[in-house]
Amino acid sequence: MLERKERLMEEQLQAPLARYTTLKIGGSANRLLQPNSVAELRDVMQSLSESSTPWFILGGGSNLLISSKGYEGTVVRTTQIKSVERLEDNLIEAGAGSRLPHLARHAAQWGLCGLEFAAGIPGTVGGGVIMNAGAHGSSMSEIVEEISVFDAKTQRVITLKRDELDFQYRRCALDPAVHTVLSAKLRLKSDNPDEIEKRIKHNEDYRLRTQPIGTPNAGSTFKNPEPTRSAGMLLDQSGAKELKEGQAAVSGLHANFVVNLGGASSEEVTALLAKMQDKVFQKFGVRLHPEWKTLGEFSSDEIAVWK
Ligand SMILES: Cc1cc2nc3c(=O)[nH]c(=O)nc-3n(C[C@H](O)[C@H](O)[C@H](O)COP(=O)(O)OP(=O)(O)OC[C@H]3O[C@@H](n4cnc5c(N)ncnc54)[C@H](O)[C@@H]3O)c2cc1C
Repeated sequence: MLERKERLMEEQLQAPLARYTTLKIGGSANRLLQPNSVAELRDVMQSLSESSTPWFILGGGSNLLISSKGYEGTVVRTTQIKSVERLEDNLIEAGAGSRLPHLARHAAQWGLCGLEFAAGIPGTVGGGVIMNAGAHGSSMSEIVEEISVFDAKTQRVITLKRDELDFQYRRCALDPAVHTVLSAKLRLKSDNPDEIEKRIKHNEDYRLRTQPIGTPNAGSTFKNPEPTRSAGMLLDQSGAKELKEGQAAVSGLHANFVVNLGGASSEEVTALLAKMQDKVFQKFGVRLHPEWKTLGEFSSDEIAVWK
């Protein structure tokens, strides 16, 4: 059964991963699988959890630094799982790989609001839940009603309600090394589609003015150390905008964004992150912690940036 399904889905050996990340960095994975449906994703995860192969779930790759040395394992990319269904008037269900901007627009057309904050976040529903993605004062934690998850430890599909997810700033209780988000039910509110569209446009315009859209990046690099102290402000006031390492540079538009000027390596990016941390520590005595996740081989010095 599984054999049949695996043949249907896209499978690639020695798959270069840079193209699947917004930072456009990353070596090859031994194997890349791209399931087309929630059922296929569940079957793949069942099969991987029974084997000894290391695996990693990749969504939009928009909050991720992949090692230029690559990854000795199987990457399961969810972005082919784009299903979106309206279950009730105000309740929608989206497959793990549905893109947040697409979902926000879809909801707007249905006259459903609550996802406007996510219109400019280039991640997937699965990645959005794991990271508790948020912007403009809202986050996934406010709209997730329940999610369906494959638990690799018990090898079972479980349903978790919002209260069980312990959502916090850019995190939740799930461990992506164990829990694969298969789908999410989102509770939205009714509103006039034109009004929703206006708010989406407003948020998008703000991003275009303040973020290096168009140059490869992975969104905010560091978490805000405190709700009232933004990492971007601390970096800006420390003079981090002048920092550069090889082809990786701090954006002149936003000090908490790192941009790939073309052909940057994960080593260059990590060295730049260390410099950014040093600048802020020297000026404010505050240690910044990266928001990004990592995948693949990094040296112990590089890993120290994430400690
Ligand atoms: C231009 C730009 C702007 C951004 N703006 C924002 C913003 O305003 N607010 C914000 O919060 N973030 C922002 N981000 C960061 C990013 O888009 C979010 O963190 C997003 O939620 C990541 O989703 P993803 O699908 O890309 O996850 P990935 O980067 O692919 O993965 C991130 C983590 O989630 C895990 N994961 C992904 N899918 C699943 C799944 N189905 N099941 C289990 N684990 C999974 C991965 O294993 C990894 O650990 C921005 C990024 C960019 C490039």
